[in-house]
Amino acid sequence: MFNLIEETGKVLVPFYSKTPLTVVKGRGHWIWDNKGKKYLDFTSGISVVNFGHANPRVNGAVIRQIKQISHISNLFYIPGQLELSQLIIGHAFPGMTFFCNSGAEANEAALKMARVIGNLKSPSKNKVLALNGSFHGRTVATISMTGQEKYRKGFEPLLPGVAFVNVNDVKSLAENFDDSVCAIFLEAVQGEGGLVKLSGEFIEEVKRLSQKHDALVVFDEVQAGMGRTGKFFGYQNFDIEPDMITMAKALGNGFPIGAVLAREAVAKKMPAGIHASTFGGNYAACAAGIASLKELDGNLLDKINTLGAQFQNRLNMLKSRYPKAIKENRVYGLMVGIDLYEAFPVKNFIDGLAARGILTLRAGSNVLRLLPPFTIGIKEIDLFCDKLEEVLKEVKG
Ligand SMILES: *Cc1c(COP(=O)(O)O)cnc(C)c1O
Repeated sequence: MFNLIEETGKVLVPFYSKTPLTVVKGRGHWIWDNKGKKYLDFTSGISVVNFGHANPRVNGAVIRQIKQISHISNLFYIPGQLELSQLIIGHAFPGMTFFCNSGAEANEAALKMARVIGNLKSPSKNKVLALNGSFHGRTVATISMTGQEKYRKGFEPLLPGVAFVNVNDVKSLAENFDDSVCAIFLEAVQGEGGLVKLSGEFIEEVKRLSQKHDALVVFDEVQAGMGRTGKFFGYQNFDIEPDMITMAKALGNGFPIGAVLAREAVAKKMPAGIHASTFGGNYAACAAGIASLKELDGNLLDKINTLGAQFQNRLNMLKSRYPKAIKENRVYGLMVGIDLYEAFPVKNFIDGLAARGILTLRAGSNVLRLLPPFTIGIKEIDLFCDKLEEVLKEVKG
């Protein structure tokens, strides 16, 4: 008998340990497998399908566009790039954009731009600061600035000139900051790292030291951006004005697109020809980006914040009932992490919830990570909490 899992295993490089589940359809926050079983998706394809599976407005915009043309090249003017840039700028800050196809590519472009700016100032101004626990992508340059051993190991030698700072540790920041720093890369809330939010005190030190040492501040908004934390971009949770932000994941609600927004002072110093992307910002990708950004209005942000607060209440009730399992709930909009004690491995929770028809993610060392599409309501949060309680009872024994 034909076995999809077995046959796939013969032809794909085994980089992923996959869940034995084959999804064939999605609508909003629901997905169906090839046996007709329905699941509640609390992953959004890792914060990609924030505006719901098969979103009719995003799909409609892409279909209308590809009937006309889907790709030419960046050697010509593409109207969608202007509109998408204006939308991004309108929600962030005045500046100029570069389009690419993924989060790693966006960070790689921001890194190259930061190095160009640093090298223009001084031949020794090329050091990049990043945080321990960070995640910035899987290319060699972006693993070089990802502060987690498991992503770096085996690919040495990595890109030189990167130093790591402990998250929310102002002493560690000061020790690593000097005039050789060209840029610091930050996530407002570390996604892969376990839902760790930057502190106000740390942000103040970043502002002070980046000014003192003339370094750029780059926010990686690939996961925390696009409404996920209840603000349009994650950095807007703080009183800080970044020099660059990088985007991808939900920017196209499932269609591959990445982007960098840089202030004019940075962008205008980039000579033509030093960086490029063949697909970046093509007609199809821009149509998806424009339609996705238009989904994220003030009403939706209000909804994300209201649901986040309700989610936090429900989870805190569970924490008080199961204090031996739940160490801490971290809820930032609809970016949610449940930090579990070591005796309660997160894998058991992911499996237990999947068996009950809910898909979830892990992060950090033992954090259950929830990134539901913004289409959910309080009903789905209640359903999730009921099923989580069943699993808590079960793993408790
Ligand atoms: C997912 C992610 C990336 C990498 O994005 P890709 O599209 O997989 O290259 C970079 N930064 C953060 C914060 C991410 O969550």
